[in-house]
Amino acid sequence: MKIKKILELTVPIHSTQRNSRFDFSKMNTSVVAVVSDVIRNGKPLVGYAFNSFGRYGCGALLRERFIPKILDAPAESLLNEAQDNFDAAKIMNCLLARERAGGHAERCIPLGTLEVAFWDLIAKIQDRPLYLTLADFFNNGKALDKVPCYVGGGWYFPGQTSDDLRQEILKYLDDGYEMVKIKIGGLSMAEDVSRIETVLSVVNAGHYLAVDATCGLDRTRALAYAKALKPFALRWYEEPCDPMDFELYRELTEIYPHAIATGENLSGERELQNFLRYSKFRPDLDIIQVDPPLSYGIGEYVKMMQLGKTLGFGGGSFFPHGGNLMCLHVVAGLGAAACEAYTGVFGIFGGFGDEVRIESGYASLPQSPGIGFERQPQLFEIMKSMV
Ligand code: MG
Repeated sequence: MKIKKILELTVPIHSTQRNSRFDFSKMNTSVVAVVSDVIRNGKPLVGYAFNSFGRYGCGALLRERFIPKILDAPAESLLNEAQDNFDAAKIMNCLLARERAGGHAERCIPLGTLEVAFWDLIAKIQDRPLYLTLADFFNNGKALDKVPCYVGGGWYFPGQTSDDLRQEILKYLDDGYEMVKIKIGGLSMAEDVSRIETVLSVVNAGHYLAVDATCGLDRTRALAYAKALKPFALRWYEEPCDPMDFELYRELTEIYPHAIATGENLSGERELQNFLRYSKFRPDLDIIQVDPPLSYGIGEYVKMMQLGKTLGFGGGSFFPHGGNLMCLHVVAGLGAAACEAYTGVFGIFGGFGDEVRIESGYASLPQSPGIGFERQPQLFEIMKSMV
C-alpha cells in the first residue's frame, strides 16, 4: 500500500462579502488530493481536503517542502501496525521531520490540510464515513447521530440594507437553522447594534445569535462593545481582538458575563495552551474555535480537546471554525459542541453537499465513505479534475 502522488491546486473563492477587517475578493484556498494505489470499484482511492476559508492557498509550501517528504518516505513507514491502512500520526511525524519547534503559523495550514486529506483516505479504505472512523480512534466508538449547527452569516456586503440582513436571516431559519452568527466591528458601534437588533427581531432570543468581530477591535472598542452587547445576552462574542492579546481577553472575561469565543487563528496545541493559561478563559462558559485543517489537522485537534479537558473545557466548549464537511465529521466523531455552516457564501466551498439535511438546528450526517466531498458536486468537479 502506498501513495502514488499528491496534487495541490489553488482555487479562488470568488466572494464579495467582507468582515471587520477585509473583503474576500482576492481570497483563495488550497485543495489537495492524495492518490493511493488502493483500488476500489476499478479506481484508485483518493483523499481530499482544502484549507478552510479566509487564510489563502499554500501551494508553494505544499509543493516544495511538504509533499516531497511523504513521497520520499519508505511506503511502509506511513502505514499502521497491521500495514492495512495509512497512519495519520506517522504521516504527521514524517511531515515534521527537520522542522523547528515554534513558528507554527508558518506550517500548520499546509500540514493540517494534508493530514485531513489522509483522514479522508483512511476512512475510505475502511469504507466508512469519517466521523465513525474518528469515533473509533479517539472517542471509544461514541459518535453523535446529528450535529448542532449554526450559520456563519451576517457578513457585510456592499449596499446592504437592514432589510437585506433581515431577509438573509429569515432564509436561514427557513432552511432549518435556528442559530446564526453575524459580523460586527466593520461599521460604527451604533450601526452594529442596530444590525443586532434587526437580527434579534427574527431569531428566538439572544441565545440564538452570536457576533464575530474578526479581531478587528482595539482595546477601547473591544471594551465598549462588551458593554454594549451585555444586555443582549448573546450566545457569544467572538474574536474581539488578536488572539495573542491575552491581557485584553483577560480584561474582557472580567467585565463581560456571557461567553467569549476565539481560536480560529491559533496554530495548534502549544498556542492554545498559552492562550488558556493567560487569557483566563472560563471553563463551562467560553468557547474554543480552533479549525482542524488550519492548525495541524485532526490529530492535533484531538490533543487540543485533551488539553482542554485537563483545564475544565470539555467537548461542549469546542466549536470548530470552518463551516464545511470536514468539521461536521470532527464534531460528530470527537463529541465537540457544534458545527458552523456557510450557506450561500464562499462559492463552491460553502455548504455540506447533497447528503446533509438541516432540521431544527441540527445537521444530519453524511454516510458516504470518507468526508464525502464526492457529494458536493461543484467542488468535486474541481477535485476530480486534479487527478
Ligand atoms: Mg470568526
